[in-house]
Amino acid sequence: MKILMMGPPGAGKGTIAEMLSENFGVVHLSSGDILRDAIKENNPLGMKAKAFMEKGVLVPDEIIIELMKEKLNTDKFVLDGFPRNLAQVKKLEEANIGIDIVLNLQVDEETIISRISGRRICEKCGKIYHLKNMPPKKNGICDVCGGKLYQRKDDKPQTIKERLNTYKRQTEELIKYYGEKGILKNIDAGGNKETTYAKITDLEWLKKRRYK
Ligand code: AMP
Repeated sequence: MKILMMGPPGAGKGTIAEMLSENFGVVHLSSGDILRDAIKENNPLGMKAKAFMEKGVLVPDEIIIELMKEKLNTDKFVLDGFPRNLAQVKKLEEANIGIDIVLNLQVDEETIISRISGRRICEKCGKIYHLKNMPPKKNGICDVCGGKLYQRKDDKPQTIKERLNTYKRQTEELIKYYGEKGILKNIDAGGNKETTYAKITDLEWLKKRRYK
């Protein structure tokens, strides 16, 4: 089962990918998390990526491809944030890593901005919260592991705009590409995570695989 999550920043790709990972036993591979971990670990590739991420633009393909390569040695995954342009798609195909289904989460821009600016993340386990829509029980503290919640630097207003532009310029064309391949499913993701997840598990493709 090889699933690719698509959609603009703030569409809920990470949240939905986590739910799919828990319920279907697929590995959640978030390129953004992999990059942030590489920075935390002072990995030289992470250090090179840092300035690009802070600006809200894509990091060079060779960096992200190198980091993703070793993680993609499984055939049960949900990819979130990679590939992000056609050059990265090509690399996946050259490595014979096929995608079975692409879930394109669709959300309007106003919702995106409100979601991203309220997003908070646990610094220890990575669980995602939202100050209004999915608040933790205790202010600033993760319900799961007690870790401290933080706001991503690139979730601040000036960078959100740049990330949306980057998405429109470079990533949106993948929707057309996967659409033409016949594996794209558009999902209205403007509601809460339960509603969006229900729409996904209602897809025939996933229903057939539920009990496998
Ligand atoms: P995300 O957590 O998916 O919003 O990604 C955060 C940032 O990491 C992006 O704004 C990019 O700078 C970088 N990034 C994540 N995935 C990729 C990718 N596939 N290609 C290039 N840059 C990426």
